Amino acid sequence: MANRHAEVLVIGGGITGASIAYHLLNSGISKVVLCEQHRLPGVGATRMSGGLIRMHHTHPSQMKLAWESYYTYAYWPEVIGGSCGFRVTGFAMIVGPEQVDSMQRNVAEMEREGIPVWMLTPEEYKQWQPFCSTERIGGVAYEPGGGYADPVAATLGFITRAQQLGLKVMEGTRVERLLIEQGNVCGIHTNTGPLFADHVILCGNTWVKGLLDELDVKLPITSRAIGVCLLDWCGGGSTPIWTTVDDSLGTYYRSNGPNQLLVGLKLDQENPFVNKQEAAGYSEMIKAKQNIRHRFPHVSAISGSRLSFDGYTPDQHPMIGSVSGHKNVVVATGFSGGGFKIAPAVGRNVAEYILTGNISPGMKEWAPDRFEKGKNLKAVHPYVHL
Ligand SMILES: Cc1cc2nc3c(=O)[nH]c(=O)nc-3n(C[C@H](O)[C@H](O)[C@H](O)COP(=O)(O)OP(=O)(O)OC[C@H]3O[C@@H](n4cnc5c(N)ncnc54)[C@H](O)[C@@H]3O)c2cc1C
Repeated sequence: MANRHAEVLVIGGGITGASIAYHLLNSGISKVVLCEQHRLPGVGATRMSGGLIRMHHTHPSQMKLAWESYYTYAYWPEVIGGSCGFRVTGFAMIVGPEQVDSMQRNVAEMEREGIPVWMLTPEEYKQWQPFCSTERIGGVAYEPGGGYADPVAATLGFITRAQQLGLKVMEGTRVERLLIEQGNVCGIHTNTGPLFADHVILCGNTWVKGLLDELDVKLPITSRAIGVCLLDWCGGGSTPIWTTVDDSLGTYYRSNGPNQLLVGLKLDQENPFVNKQEAAGYSEMIKAKQNIRHRFPHVSAISGSRLSFDGYTPDQHPMIGSVSGHKNVVVATGFSGGGFKIAPAVGRNVAEYILTGNISPGMKEWAPDRFEKGKNLKAVHPYVHL
């Protein structure tokens, strides 16, 4: 029985589970087991993620977690070892003319946090990104440290480091239900048999919901399709393309190798089984291509796509914390399309909570029961699409 008992069981081997597992072991908890139903890095959002890294957010709690996480991505070889494929390209947040006031306030908030950022006029933007049109641009907030990383490499990097610290990984292990004794969760039942634990951490994206049925806990998470398409483009020469969230066009983009752009698709339908498809429809990609031509007029052929899904909460902020009535069952889910860039800080906050029982101020705001309590988070200065 001894080898079927862990201090902490982590369910889900995407970036969230991997980061939490690493941070648990790094903080001194020795018996940690991670179960992933497929092969690492899993079959969820992480595998298809665009990997954008930015600090610009419209809610201070996300901004702070992104800033804390930035350190891990920027110093990955020293902190974790190996490479997470982080490329510092610079990051631009673009808004239309009617959102410039909001942007100035969000930039001021970032400056208070010590995040390097400054605002550019459309004319200044054009000097730095001469191949881009300034159509619809009201203002640009530029972060010199932003860019993108490789979510697969980052997940496997966390796992490798965690294994060196003693993590046991169980691939092809599907958690079927929670084990409950006298009303308390004492482990999980899997396709490889039961596993017992003091704490169970559910990082299985929207799949988490099904596992909570037995506790009669209903998380308000919906599954939404998210996709990117790859478009040929070779107009930049040696000038790097800034990784960008373009609120004025309702999309985001970054370079993908020397001759391609990776561009966000507009897919807002709810589709709980979208993870079974891995390519976008032609018409969706054509729409993305037409849209991005407002910024990159010379973009050419469609070269592919990646489609997956993410769990969205009603306020589009994550749910992290114990579920009602079960302190030893923690969820980390509902990342609403932005879980990659904040995963290192999420992992550290969850590990601290397991170790000390202390809920950090950031995590307090993300309590899973905030919706029942009417404490939905609201951006003070929102944009149209963010
Ligand atoms: C196309 C796309 C682009 C994106 N771009 C960005 C971006 O640029 N920047 C950013 O910050 N975020 C981005 N995101 C969002 C980000 O990728 C996700 O928020 C993040 O990857 C979620 O990670 P996760 O580990 O919580 O979930 P997932 O990666 O979905 O992993 C969950 C894992 O749990 C496993 N699992 C589930 N149930 C069980 C079970 N019962 N037993 C065992 N295992 C189980 C699954 O197999 C899966 O591997 C993007 C997402 C997509 C889809």
